[in-house]
Amino acid sequence: MVCVRTGVGIDSLPEQVLGSVDPVERVYRALEKIEEAKGLNAFITVDKEGALRSAEELKRRIRMGGKTGRLAGLLVAVKDNISTKGLRTTCASRMLENYVPVYDATVIERIRREDGIIIGKTNMDEFAMGSSTETSFFGPTKNFFDHSRVSGGSSGGSAVSLATGAVEIALGSDTGGSIRNPAAFNSIVGLKPTYGRVSRYGLIAYASSLDQIGPMARDTLSTALLLKVIAGGDPRDLTTSTRDPPDYVEEATSGAKGLRIGIVKEGFMNIDEKISGKVYDAIGVLEKTGCLVEEASFHFLKYALPAYYIIAMAECSSNLARFDGIRYGGRSVEGKWEERVVKIRTEGFGEEVKRRIFLGTFVLSAGYKEDFYMKACRVRRKIHDDFKLLFKDFNALAMPTMPVLPWRIGEIVSPLEMYMMDFETVAVNLAGLPAVSVPAGFVNSLPVGLQLIGNHFEEATLLRLAYAYESETRFTSWLRSPT
Ligand code: GLN
Repeated sequence: MVCVRTGVGIDSLPEQVLGSVDPVERVYRALEKIEEAKGLNAFITVDKEGALRSAEELKRRIRMGGKTGRLAGLLVAVKDNISTKGLRTTCASRMLENYVPVYDATVIERIRREDGIIIGKTNMDEFAMGSSTETSFFGPTKNFFDHSRVSGGSSGGSAVSLATGAVEIALGSDTGGSIRNPAAFNSIVGLKPTYGRVSRYGLIAYASSLDQIGPMARDTLSTALLLKVIAGGDPRDLTTSTRDPPDYVEEATSGAKGLRIGIVKEGFMNIDEKISGKVYDAIGVLEKTGCLVEEASFHFLKYALPAYYIIAMAECSSNLARFDGIRYGGRSVEGKWEERVVKIRTEGFGEEVKRRIFLGTFVLSAGYKEDFYMKACRVRRKIHDDFKLLFKDFNALAMPTMPVLPWRIGEIVSPLEMYMMDFETVAVNLAGLPAVSVPAGFVNSLPVGLQLIGNHFEEATLLRLAYAYESETRFTSWLRSPT
């Protein structure tokens, strides 16, 4: 683990990491681990050359006594929908199989500036549409704890690359749960920031009003560190907030005593008792650390799922219009202009992506816009307002991250059934709130996640809770010993 000591300042982290191990050596070790875990299919592209180049440059600088950044020597895995200059970025789609961006996403620039070493691009659901990484053109990523089961998704590759120990930190994106879901399914930490906290410049959009890039790691402080590096305003994304992010690492270690947590009772309905039992136990741990825990009610939770899918599909149908073989994607095919577009889109997109484009176009169509899209937008406003009321009484809300344990690969065939898996996560995105998933133990040797939801820009509160809980449970050691 990178930064498990209490009270570390982020500037002191590189010394801790680099004190004994040389960055080039670290890259070779990571490459070995990636090779060993190849069967899990966590990576789409491994950038051996690029990583070694960065590590060597850093090593030289350290030797010369030069300045190093906050992430110096840390290995980073990046979800494959985040643009990396000169490094293939596929969105796990056949459409972008050979796409090499000519620029870095803002988050990538910031990671490089702080000397993080990007080792590769991770597997995901195609265009981040899915909950299991099964819709990837490159095949599913396997769950770290049971290789016959799904990794969760859509940031499944990032979560598994962490669980295998290949990298210390990873980037995911979360439109309706894609960071929290695989974090829960692989017993790691995943944080979805407030909408506007992290720049989306260079993130290949799925649903722009819901998407956020966020940090994933095996422990809370590494999560906090990565968030600190990527958060903040960006003139290239005008939806970012210009308010300065706090020092999340320092904030995380400031204790959770006195924080008020509301247990969202609707989040526990129709859930296996063993799963809810683990989540209640985890909340009990927080109570022991001095948090005040009470039941809370969120009546509108059940309407979040239909509203989310209408809005997400509407936005994706528009965002994916650019993949026509002319602006982006595709190969050279013969025929008239329209025929070429049709052919490229038919062959380039997978089944789930096409389903969403169709449905999204439908809910936006002249005759149905009022009944579906506009209604969903009103529900979204109501969900936002209800959350705001709850945050008058509570600092954070708690519920499970996922309603079920990781399922077997191929087990869920109905799209609707798959969408239901996002029941616990999508409301957060509709309201633009931050939320974190932390490991809450195991049921039948499979991981369960506790989800904590905060008010806008209250990532620090969530990290304080996560760190207090981690200090009490040492959850990072559970990675090795599920019970
Ligand atoms: N599972 C959800 C969906 O398919 C969320 C995906 C995501 O957060 N990218 O829309």
